Amino acid sequence: MSATHEVLNQSTPFVDRNLFGVDPALREAVTRNGAGWADAQLTELGARLGSAEVAEWARLANVFAPQLRNFDRSGRRIDEVEFHPAWHQVMRLMIGAGVHADPWAEPRQGAQVARAAKYLLCSQVENGAQCPITMTYAVVPVMQRFAAATPAIARDWLPRILSHTYDPASRPIEGKHGALLGMGMTEKQGGSDVRANTTFAAVAGRGEWGERYVITGHKWFFSAPQCDAHLVLAQTDPGSPAGLSCFFLPRWRADGTRNRVFVQRLKDKLGNKSNASSEVEFDGAEAYLVGEVGRGVPTILEMGNHTRMDCAIGSAGIMRAVLTHALHHARERRAFGRLLAEQPLMRNVLADLALEVEAATTLVLRLARAFDGRHAHVEHEALLARVLTPAAKYWICKRLPAVAVEAMEVMGGNGYVEENPFARFYREAPLNSIWEGSGNVMCLDVLRAFGKTPSVRAALIVEIQAARGANRLLDAFSATLVDDLARTDIDESEARSLTERIALAVQGTLLVQGAPRTTSDAFCASRLVPGAWGRTFGTLGKGVDVGPIIARALVE
Ligand SMILES: Cc1cc2nc3c(=O)[nH]c(=O)nc-3n(C[C@H](O)[C@H](O)[C@H](O)COP(=O)(O)OP(=O)(O)OC[C@H]3O[C@@H](n4cnc5c(N)ncnc54)[C@H](O)[C@@H]3O)c2cc1C
Repeated sequence: MSATHEVLNQSTPFVDRNLFGVDPALREAVTRNGAGWADAQLTELGARLGSAEVAEWARLANVFAPQLRNFDRSGRRIDEVEFHPAWHQVMRLMIGAGVHADPWAEPRQGAQVARAAKYLLCSQVENGAQCPITMTYAVVPVMQRFAAATPAIARDWLPRILSHTYDPASRPIEGKHGALLGMGMTEKQGGSDVRANTTFAAVAGRGEWGERYVITGHKWFFSAPQCDAHLVLAQTDPGSPAGLSCFFLPRWRADGTRNRVFVQRLKDKLGNKSNASSEVEFDGAEAYLVGEVGRGVPTILEMGNHTRMDCAIGSAGIMRAVLTHALHHARERRAFGRLLAEQPLMRNVLADLALEVEAATTLVLRLARAFDGRHAHVEHEALLARVLTPAAKYWICKRLPAVAVEAMEVMGGNGYVEENPFARFYREAPLNSIWEGSGNVMCLDVLRAFGKTPSVRAALIVEIQAARGANRLLDAFSATLVDDLARTDIDESEARSLTERIALAVQGTLLVQGAPRTTSDAFCASRLVPGAWGRTFGTLGKGVDVGPIIARALVE
């Protein structure tokens, strides 16, 4: 057919840009939080992740979802997951950049912040691969903590986990150059309430890697079953509250045979297509005790602290991605004789989204700094991390779906079509809020943090009063919050509204301290004043100077 028309007024794909370079808010937050030394690494990673080639890997890894192969051609059980080559490329890129382990391999001031920035950049491209990446990262502090009690695990596994080599081969650990780890807690009868676990671990004497147990039962959600090992929870004494313990469950047993972990099926998920999430049964699977018997929940919670932080960082990253694509489109697409980015109402929407994204970015990097401090035994930072982790996970993950929808709409009909990345990000958007402790569970954890350690409240108050006097709207908002934090009668039903206000107060404080005045003023005037802001984006008040906010949001 001959050409019937010339293709006009379609925006170009946002590729071959440096994702770190285009984002001043991220660059400044990295420096402010003590990781300026990582600038060159982040610039290099930002360029790679922003390339057309990596964008194509991300697309392919999601179009060609992983397949479960239960049997080999002779009928032997193998329970292997097959991935498209693009998945392996994405994994190789992230592991090569140390996103799964660098703060543990090379601890230094700002290491968590630098790694958080890398994770945030990765989130803008491919989210499925981030599941095994975050789980591997989060297992290491648990393994290091118990290294003295389980020296053989530390000896055989830690060097491989910390390496920058991606080794997807399914074989016993001694033949591998790199290793990945996952976690298994959730069972059919309960996920948030893991005490309901029925999977049972029976003592089986000492083994190659420590106190050996044999596990029988199941996990209803077991992501990345291709990992070389998982930390799992199982009962050692059913019916007793002291029964839940944490175990190291390798994919291949110490004697070099396949462990008895049977993948029943892969989950058919809304999004997160590239990542294999499975249902498994353990039929006498070999596993090794980690931590004390009966202390499984606190042991594995240390892993959860880190994956929860990553949920918040990952959501901030997806917000950043959709804002980037929306802004880029609005700067190229014309309607009614003007670019979308020049239309006053669209400018309100874009600036409003940009405020949300900068606030999320600044909060997650501050949280990462608290993790740096926590691992360096700085008390204030440890206390802050205790409350900010669930608060940031709750708030940022909750904000993401709204941001994703609005950004998609900036692209009009094209935004709803699979060829553009919005559809994939949209399907991904609810997930970080659900796994690793769903919204309510996070808010209840905020209350628990105050109840268990009263100094957490004091540390939070110090943080939200750090910018006192710089913005009167923030001062008023924080003062009311501080009064409420002093209440002794806060009950569970108030946990969401309290957590939201904590997150907003910290975001406001951080923006007042570090962002341009136009940004912090607009944030405080919209988010911190009851009735001043609408229920959708694009409702900033008339006095807001949206120009500098939009210009800062994407420097192309
Ligand atoms: C794609 C995907 C991959 C996953 N991968 C893994 C994995 O690898 N390993 C793993 O262990 N798990 C995994 N999970 C499971 C996930 O962590 C759980 O689904 C999640 O923790 C919630 O548990 P649940 O599904 O049992 O829901 P429930 O615990 O039944 O919770 C349902 C709802 O009730 C709320 N709720 C619970 N308790 C309270 C309360 N006291 N007050 C008020 N509200 C409450 C929750 O916030 C939630 O909204 C995965 C989930 C998904 C979707």
